[in-house]
Amino acid sequence: MSSVLTYTSNDSIEDSYHLVRRIFSTGKTRSLKFRKTQIQRLYDLVKDNEERFYEALAKDMNKPRMEALSGDIAPCLEECLFFLDNLDKLAKDDKVKPRMQMNAMDHLVIRKEPLGAVLILGCWNYPVQLALVPLAGAIAAGNTVILKPSEISPNTAALITELFPKYLDNHCYRIVNGAVEETTALLKYHFDHIFYTGSPMVGKIVMKAAAEHLTGVTLELGGKSPAIVLPDADLQVVANRIGFGKFYNCGQICIAVDYVLVPEDKMDAFADAFRKTVTKWFGEDPKQSPHYARMVSQRHVDRVVGMLENRQSGAIAFGGEHDREERYIAPTLVTDVKFKDQVLMGDEIFGPILPVIPYSNLDDAIHMVNQNLPPLVLYAFTNKKKLAQKILDNTQSGGVCINDCLMHQAEYALPFGGIGNSGVGNYHGERSYRTFTHERSVMAKKLNMESVIAVRYPPYSDKRTNMMRMLMVTSPLSLKFKAYKGAFKKLALVIALAVIYYKRR
Ligand code: NAD
Repeated sequence: MSSVLTYTSNDSIEDSYHLVRRIFSTGKTRSLKFRKTQIQRLYDLVKDNEERFYEALAKDMNKPRMEALSGDIAPCLEECLFFLDNLDKLAKDDKVKPRMQMNAMDHLVIRKEPLGAVLILGCWNYPVQLALVPLAGAIAAGNTVILKPSEISPNTAALITELFPKYLDNHCYRIVNGAVEETTALLKYHFDHIFYTGSPMVGKIVMKAAAEHLTGVTLELGGKSPAIVLPDADLQVVANRIGFGKFYNCGQICIAVDYVLVPEDKMDAFADAFRKTVTKWFGEDPKQSPHYARMVSQRHVDRVVGMLENRQSGAIAFGGEHDREERYIAPTLVTDVKFKDQVLMGDEIFGPILPVIPYSNLDDAIHMVNQNLPPLVLYAFTNKKKLAQKILDNTQSGGVCINDCLMHQAEYALPFGGIGNSGVGNYHGERSYRTFTHERSVMAKKLNMESVIAVRYPPYSDKRTNMMRMLMVTSPLSLKFKAYKGAFKKLALVIALAVIYYKRR
């Protein structure tokens, strides 16, 4: 247990679980007014305490203020404001036009209902964003919530724990703190949805536990996200953008560039440009730079340094130094890495080491990318739309960002999530609302028209069966007719009627 964070006892976990279950059934969180008040309070929680969050994030991983603002504070504020502005619209029933003729007179809607009592398991690298952004979605959609901030960033978790009951309804929304034992205890309960951010390995544990109760999951995972640099791209611009996508938060970001594929004849030029970028940003000794974060723990330093020291290929073009006490690892570029290197190219790096792999042609690069499981994001750098299109058409990934890094995740109008090993489901803005909502289909018929409806009742006859077919299956002819426009449509109508007339004779 950390000295700054008190873990929740098993009895308290049980009490919190029963509380959020019971409160959900009272309907308290279904009121839109209540939800808006709570989202406003969540906004205030972050806004009023912005400075304290910067301090906590600095203690946890020396996160520079600019990165704490852009990666933690701003997304939470923006998401709360989005829900305050859009909740009425999002919560409205969707009216649905019936497809079957037999339902033409009926009232069809999709109601947006909360899922129930949900569990959110946060992650440590963006401990404010990855806890409070899904929380905003869950509150907006009318759920009760247990939130477990990550114990690996204890200062931020302790601050969220302190502020939570001061701002939010303490019956509807509860905090649980802890590590493996407490997460395991939580996962035994029957939640109505589990939203987890973290590694694919723990993602599997979460999914197995959820399966016991047939609970739906959203898994925001990671993986090895590649960047393909094409020969036409300006290498200095590419180096800046990949540098941003690699050294933001010291590489501890799920959408960090994990490895770069560079044309073999550009390897040296790329390394030179990259060195220039890093020196310009962090100086000759990045350890002294206030703009460069630290690894979250010594355990994480050991893991990443181990990857560098035990690598099976590549030369360190620059960087490579570390200081375990200070949790420092220098921005490091390793060139001429072999794709088959089981250490550098095995697990996700999740630290400031960037392997660069040479490729001979684009097909070769695409082939390498496709040998790994689909990543959370794929980056490509080129001015040629055709080449970008070729990459899109021949690869799979959670998302794609062309000619930049990270920015697709920060744009909350786009859904964010992985595919397969990099995640299940997605969220942000409207997608978060959907993630935490049950779309309940409602068909309301009238108790009249019984003589027409009787066509589907026994005793069955050929006539009734034919009638049923007409009512249930769209005529292929009418689909063809729909495709015609203007004068053609009229002509097609005449021909269709004539065909029907002659068929019936
Ligand atoms: P992790 O998955 O190892 O741990 C997360 C939490 O799970 C911890 O709080 C821990 O208490 C709990 N846990 C660990 N082992 C457990 C077990 N056996 N049973 C039950 N609970 C257990 O987190 P990590 O590996 O430190 O996080 C980094 C990973 O998260 C990377 O793969 C990264 O890509 C991914 N990530 C994804 C996103 C995203 O939005 N997709 C964001 C951040 C991080």
